Amino acid sequence: MAEKMLQFTKLPQATPDKRDVDTRKADFGEIYADFDAPQASAQASRCSQCGVPFCQVHCPLQNNIPDWLKLTAEGRMQEAYEVSSATNTFPEICGRICPQDRLCEGNCVIERDFESVTIGAIERTITDNAFDMGWVKPRMPRHERAQSIAIIGAGPGGLAAAEMLRAQGYQVHVYDRHDRVGGLMIYGIPGFKLEKHIVIRRWKLLEEQGVVFHLNAEIGGALPFSELRAQHDAVLIATGVYKPRDIAGPGSGLPGIVPALDFLITANRAGLGDDVAAFADGSLNAEGKDVVVIGGGDTAMDCVRTAIRQGAASVKCLYRRDKANMPGSMREVKNAEEEGIEFVWLSAPEAFLGDSHVTAVRATRMYLGLPDASGRQAVEPIEGGHFNLKADLVIKALGFDPEDLPALFGEAALTVTRWGTLKVDSRSFMTSLPGVFAAGDIVRGASLVVWAIKDGRDAAGQIHAHIQQTASSRIAAE
Ligand code: FAD
Ligand code: SF4
Ligand code: SF4
Repeated sequence: MAEKMLQFTKLPQATPDKRDVDTRKADFGEIYADFDAPQASAQASRCSQCGVPFCQVHCPLQNNIPDWLKLTAEGRMQEAYEVSSATNTFPEICGRICPQDRLCEGNCVIERDFESVTIGAIERTITDNAFDMGWVKPRMPRHERAQSIAIIGAGPGGLAAAEMLRAQGYQVHVYDRHDRVGGLMIYGIPGFKLEKHIVIRRWKLLEEQGVVFHLNAEIGGALPFSELRAQHDAVLIATGVYKPRDIAGPGSGLPGIVPALDFLITANRAGLGDDVAAFADGSLNAEGKDVVVIGGGDTAMDCVRTAIRQGAASVKCLYRRDKANMPGSMREVKNAEEEGIEFVWLSAPEAFLGDSHVTAVRATRMYLGLPDASGRQAVEPIEGGHFNLKADLVIKALGFDPEDLPALFGEAALTVTRWGTLKVDSRSFMTSLPGVFAAGDIVRGASLVVWAIKDGRDAAGQIHAHIQQTASSRIAAE
């Protein structure tokens, strides 16, 4: 092993430069910079090159982390890029937005006494540097195949599958109801976590590879699913989950109470330069408003931090559990706290006040009770613990459920689970319809970009196997 490694006892953990609060709140640019080459190399050299690398075990893509850390430590950046991109379709995106504290870095063995290797920051630096150096090229097929594949959804799941299948030579057609490629990476996740040009350069690379995008194409709308099936040799459904969970209670229908994704999509579109009426007329714009965001996940964190950047008068996050029990990434909670967001822990909404528009949220204090069957502590209201929070914009960030795809696609035979996600064979990724596969959030429920990439890549392998098998059976029968 190169002497360069195992530096963790001498060299402390360093994270990339982070913009100061006042500067970063003034725009939607990313808050973290890349490492420069010497920093990346030095931080990579802290890795102890474990025989059983728990970082890799806990990375959904099983990225070969120790190898690309070693190559980075040795300054062999092009080889590091090649190893890193062999298992990950979008390493620079995962390096930015994976919750590393729960995945690779949270399981790094040196974390216990010395703080983990900054795996995510090094991963993004390797690929950003590779783009700068011109090493990132489209994965062109060696030969063309006649068969064509339809992919519904241009999010990370659909795109990961598209890249793999096109590299095998298939004619790949990606359909999306939006006008841009990227799914939640372009319209959900804000620019301060993932700048849009990072997603757009991947879109352009896929086009160079020969993937054909059909945008503003809603399947189940003007374009029937059955037509798509008839036109292509296989179909992959990667449509994500978009039905927002709602809040009941008095006043919940008042104007000024909006779903999180409507707010975020509007903000992202406005940031991309689109002329969005709901942003211009102020209905989906937090400027000057007292904002209350309800929820404790990553979507809620993205909403509070977007609102503060839009110039909200005040931003509060209402969550019924405490900080320790929040589902959102602790890194994002810390960033939100630094940016001036006030967290109102152990509090749940009861009613929304106002005549023609919301003016306040009536909430009640909660306490954590005994664990339920899942081991999670139940939350109970504290009697008499009512209070009001002034609000002229309330954002509901309570999670998402799948749309009713069998109804939308007019395919009653498309089987779903009791949560409404698509039922697939766990090995083949095939749905109940022959030749129709599914991957990403529409199978898992709301999850992570890295899991969608993993599923998209695996499903692509299974689609390839299915098409080859169908072709050989046809030849045998002739
Ligand atoms: P999506 O990204 O949702 O893409 C699905 C695509 O299908 C969309 O483009 C949609 O327009 C299209 N589509 C849907 N229905 C149709 C139809 N009928 N016809 C045509 N097209 C259709 N994950 C992380 O790892 N890190 C984060 O920091 C993070 N932050 C998040 C923040 C927010 C606000 C949200 C909502 C999610 C976040 N996630 C994060 C989760 C992550 O974005 C998703 O898990 C991931 O994008 C799922 O990928 P997917 O390809 O399955 O679906
Ligand atoms: Fe860590 Fe995510 Fe990269 Fe895997 S893909 S190494 S979990 S940052
Ligand atoms: Fe290196 Fe940590 Fe992974 Fe071990 S667990 S190989 S120290 S990054």
